[in-house]
Amino acid sequence: MKLICDLVVNNLQYAGLSVPKNRAKKCQVSVIKSSNNELTMVAQSADNKNGINYKLTGNVTQTFEKFVLEGKCTIRLKKPLADLILSKCDVMQLRLFLKTIQTGEDLLSGSNSQAANKKGNNEDSRKRLIDSLPSSQKKLKLSNFNEKCRTKLIILSKKELITTSFSQTLVELQIPDLGLSMIPPSVSRLAKLQTLDVSGNNLTDLPRTFSSKLTSLNLKGNQLDRSNSKTWRFFSLPNIRNSLSLLNLQENRLPALPLEILSLEKLSTLNVSHNKIKKFASSIGDLPRLRDLDVSHNVLSSLDISFKMLKLASLDVTGNSFSHPVDKQGVNGTSSVPSLKRIACALVRNHRINHNILPKTVQEELLLMRRCKCFKVVGSTDEQYIINSVKNLAQTCVFDGTTHLRMHYSSCNGCEKSQISSLRRLI
Ligand SMILES: [Zn+2]
Repeated sequence: MKLICDLVVNNLQYAGLSVPKNRAKKCQVSVIKSSNNELTMVAQSADNKNGINYKLTGNVTQTFEKFVLEGKCTIRLKKPLADLILSKCDVMQLRLFLKTIQTGEDLLSGSNSQAANKKGNNEDSRKRLIDSLPSSQKKLKLSNFNEKCRTKLIILSKKELITTSFSQTLVELQIPDLGLSMIPPSVSRLAKLQTLDVSGNNLTDLPRTFSSKLTSLNLKGNQLDRSNSKTWRFFSLPNIRNSLSLLNLQENRLPALPLEILSLEKLSTLNVSHNKIKKFASSIGDLPRLRDLDVSHNVLSSLDISFKMLKLASLDVTGNSFSHPVDKQGVNGTSSVPSLKRIACALVRNHRINHNILPKTVQEELLLMRRCKCFKVVGSTDEQYIINSVKNLAQTCVFDGTTHLRMHYSSCNGCEKSQISSLRRLI
């Protein structure tokens, strides 16, 4: 293997004099070992096919490696008194090259070694070198070596993102805190990906297509409040809707929970804490598998009655403003008459008629329909409240302040009539 780079030979004998600097030449650099184990660097260029030899053993006074990750280094020689400035190198190749100079082991010839046993030794040397690298680089280097079969990958810098090719075998991928505005298209094409962590970026949009059946998605700390209506169609993609079980939407300044999320059939863990959500749609009660829900640190003043339909193992409601538990009983005979459309929508929901064939706008309206405290979907928009103990909503509850909170609902005809008659009896 050869190192392809740009090379400038800076002659230090003329240091301080106004000698024009040599221009960078595209070179192929190799290190050869003589019979007496002495290393020589050969720099071949287009205009010098035979190459210029630079003796390395006992001749290198210093190597400057501060910018190795940018593909640059400088080798200072005694004879001739010069700096060899290498740039535009492949980072991994450059590290192997420098290690070769320092240890005398011919790591660079690993791929075209003639002797099989020598190749084996070189592989060992490579592994030793990888082990000696800092962890972030190790992940990158290891991923290069195991590119064809790796299943897990963590990208820690933009440079790694550019230089790393994603293997189709990837099952878990983490690309956190890189300031990305979109999920790279190559990620959308990974067919086996199950876990994706893109937290702490600047995402304002989500892919329109996605190849894999994703089970876990971490979108914490992005800017999805700046998304458009098409963004959330991601969650309506059949493979996402039928597979996603864990979703983290923490810290996105969301004003409401997007309705598409309420159609995720396998969703079991949902974190929407630290957003600006005022209300949940009643269809949250239709998430059959939801077990762990975190709605803490939003601006909720009441919960939808349909929270009582969920079978939650854990619920966190801290940091909201349930502090005014006023029981507004709206039985005053002035309730507005629902439109025919809303009555029809209520019928569709209550009879579980397949609404996927209906226009998108009607489907949205269906999901926003109110429920009565008997859980029947109603056409009415009149809001009433009951007070409910937080502890009744999940096996484990995290809350602050009052142990009771407001839940809103809209009465169905039956419940309203029985409420009026019970009031009359009281009178
Ligand atoms: Zn009712």
